[in-house]
Amino acid sequence: MPDETTFRLLLFGAVLLVMALWEKAAPRRPLLAGRRQRWPANLSLVVVNTIVVRLLLPVLPVGLAVMVEYRGTGLLQTLTLPFWLKVTLALVVLDLIIYLQHVLFHYLPLLWRLHRVHHTDLDIDVTTGNRFHPLEIVISMLIKLAAVALLGAPALAVVIFEAVLNAAAQFNHGNVSIPLQLDRWLRLLVVTPDMHRVHHSIIPRETNSNFGFNIPLWDRLFGTYRPQPELGHAGMTIGLKEYRDPAQLTLPRLLIQPFVSSAGR
Ligand SMILES: [Zn+2]
Repeated sequence: MPDETTFRLLLFGAVLLVMALWEKAAPRRPLLAGRRQRWPANLSLVVVNTIVVRLLLPVLPVGLAVMVEYRGTGLLQTLTLPFWLKVTLALVVLDLIIYLQHVLFHYLPLLWRLHRVHHTDLDIDVTTGNRFHPLEIVISMLIKLAAVALLGAPALAVVIFEAVLNAAAQFNHGNVSIPLQLDRWLRLLVVTPDMHRVHHSIIPRETNSNFGFNIPLWDRLFGTYRPQPELGHAGMTIGLKEYRDPAQLTLPRLLIQPFVSSAGR
């Protein structure tokens, strides 16, 4: 589906641009390593991941959902429900699966090696939201494909989900200031940057909290919610204590990181 690729690229670029300008205008914290040191590798990973997924996987979630809908297979396709309800249910269940998958990537040592690449950024900003190891992206895609097939997710739901997931990831990693009063309300509806920043704290009990990307409810429901970092947003340290060297922020170092070290959570 070339139209889907164009749509995703345009949305990705638009959200990146808006967030980058917002970060310049109203930053939440001063950056430690800065954009020039981090952005080339973080943004190169987007290109690498797009190519790897295209080469390794025969079908992407939206394409699979079109097939599932055409054949009428999967749980939701066999139920007699209004279309809008099927779309809503698919969105909620897919988001729950992404939450559970994120928890799994923290607790299973082999998966943590891959996900650690996301957490070893020395700052958190819009580009951190795209900084994932290619193997994590491939595993994540396989989980999503299985979920779409079993669930019988309507194609419309998967298009919305994929678009919202990327936009939300870029938004909630943003180094942007949102008034506290507004944030308090906003985080009832979406995962805000202040809420997700706690997840990037160097303190392990904070790293292992606030796993949600879209719907903030899961963390509250499963007891993994931490409202604020213990040292405050200005005082907290971002990253992991074993990875403090800015020289490791290059693309080749990030690609081999899961295979050369077994540092803990
Ligand atoms: Zn994480």
